[in-house]
Amino acid sequence: DVTHGRILYLEDVCVSFDGFRAINKLSLDIAPGELRCIIGPNGAGKTTMMDIVTGKTRPDSGQVFFGSTIDLLRHNEAEIAAMGLGRKFQKPTVFEPLTVFENLELALSGPRGVAAALWHRLSGEQHDRLAEVLTLIQLSEERQRPAGLLSHGQKQWLEIGMLLIQDPKLLLLDEPVAGMTDQETERTAELFLTLKGKHTLIVVEHDMGFVGRIAEKVTVLCEGSVLAEGSLAQVQADERVIEVYLGR
Ligand code: ADP
Repeated sequence: DVTHGRILYLEDVCVSFDGFRAINKLSLDIAPGELRCIIGPNGAGKTTMMDIVTGKTRPDSGQVFFGSTIDLLRHNEAEIAAMGLGRKFQKPTVFEPLTVFENLELALSGPRGVAAALWHRLSGEQHDRLAEVLTLIQLSEERQRPAGLLSHGQKQWLEIGMLLIQDPKLLLLDEPVAGMTDQETERTAELFLTLKGKHTLIVVEHDMGFVGRIAEKVTVLCEGSVLAEGSLAQVQADERVIEVYLGR
């Protein structure tokens, strides 16, 4: 099995929008349990890359595999989400009038189980899982608070908790610490380091302090393909990366 040890594999992926190559021969290899950070200047193709993986955008050419056998290009967005690919967009999208606990209940039971959640008819096992996630995202004491009253950072953690409760195999997170205080950013780093190993995370982030804190391996995207890959120190010392970030 040549793809053993891979959870996500992209090869030579290309996407054009009105003749403009947003993704240009992009290849990416992510191992299970890895915490990969993706960085790169605006317009590098980071969002488009996530859109491709989650099935929102179809590439013009190339391969996208989930695990060693699942060809993601044969599946639509809903099917891909159901396979255990969770995505978090930059802005938190929690249900503000509902409590923290109710938000997690809804995420746990999915659209079909909404009624069960609303009537609090969850199994003991599901309750244990909710408590576990509440502890992980450090919101146990806020469980009865309406989500709308949480701080920005807490809303972000709640949304991450709503993904975690579905036990995703791969999590894609877009700028998770944007707008967070230093303390919230540090707590998020601790959370991600706890998740690493059990889950696979791909994190797009501009905050280099945060990237250095969490990532073993960083991928630098530029003009739709991989410019450099390695530790943060390695890529930051790369002449091409410096050029791209400092302007030509
Ligand atoms: P990043 O997330 O790294 O800032 P994006 O993936 O958002 O980069 O964008 C990559 C390039 O593709 C940009 O030049 C952007 O303007 C272009 N682009 C992205 N989506 C579309 C679209 N739907 N239509 C046209 N151009 C797009």
